[in-house]
Amino acid sequence: MNKAQENALRREMVTTCRKMNSTGINQGTAGNLSIRLDDDSFLITPSSLPYDIMQPDDIMKMWFDGTFEGKHRPSSEWRFHRDILRHREDMNVVLHCHSMYATTLAVHHKTIPSFHYMTGVAGGITIRCARYATFGTQALSDAAIEALDGRLACLLGQHGQISLGKSFASALWLAVEVETISRMYVQALTLGEPPILSDEEMARVIGQMQRMSYGQMPEADGSNDVARPKAAPKKAAAKKAAPAKKVAAVKKAAPAKKAAPARGAAPAKKPAGRKPAAKAARKRN
Ligand SMILES: [Zn+2]
Repeated sequence: MNKAQENALRREMVTTCRKMNSTGINQGTAGNLSIRLDDDSFLITPSSLPYDIMQPDDIMKMWFDGTFEGKHRPSSEWRFHRDILRHREDMNVVLHCHSMYATTLAVHHKTIPSFHYMTGVAGGITIRCARYATFGTQALSDAAIEALDGRLACLLGQHGQISLGKSFASALWLAVEVETISRMYVQALTLGEPPILSDEEMARVIGQMQRMSYGQMPEADGSNDVARPKAAPKKAAAKKAAPAKKVAAVKKAAPAKKAAPARGAAPAKKPAGRKPAAKAARKRN
């Protein structure tokens, strides 16, 4: 990765950190964020610097061997950022925060069950809560990696949450989703432990989510009643492109399959023969 690309990521990181504040998932300087640069290094937010005054050159560069470069010290949680990026080659961004409702569940060591289908956004039938370990320690990093097995997010016991993404945007989106699901769960619990969706249903939900992440529509249970793009009416399209009389004239002037002759009307630099017949004819008219 060249310096210009790295600088672009630094700027994007500052923007994402400020969005962590504006979406309300970040509390003070508790959150931290990292992104993979290459096989050996990553960028990470500095320790204890408020996001609203942070600039791109405040972002720290770290190597996987624990060495760093920059104006500050790296986040105290650099260890789990480094270990997750090293362990999860499918992900590029690690976002950590102490968002209110995710942390409310985490202080009770509650795994979020499939009480709502959106639990599936973290990639599995539950969002696990990692066992407690002191912040900044290898023990916390190990616990986080365990809780993230097969998942894109987890809670950290008596601490907060971690969300992963391929990009800053996807990690931020997921962190906000985890916080929203946590809030729903906390509120649902006030009426008692809610019923949960079956593992079979959650497998279907996760399949639908994966299809949509590939830009496909959800599967419609074998029904033909599916959403589909509206085909443009052929007659109307032809009228719009070239009125009937002119189409006839074009046909006479330039047979559809052959290249339109230049006739001196087409710009000299661009051979008219490369233009579709109708387009070239419109210019002549
Ligand atoms: Zn923390």
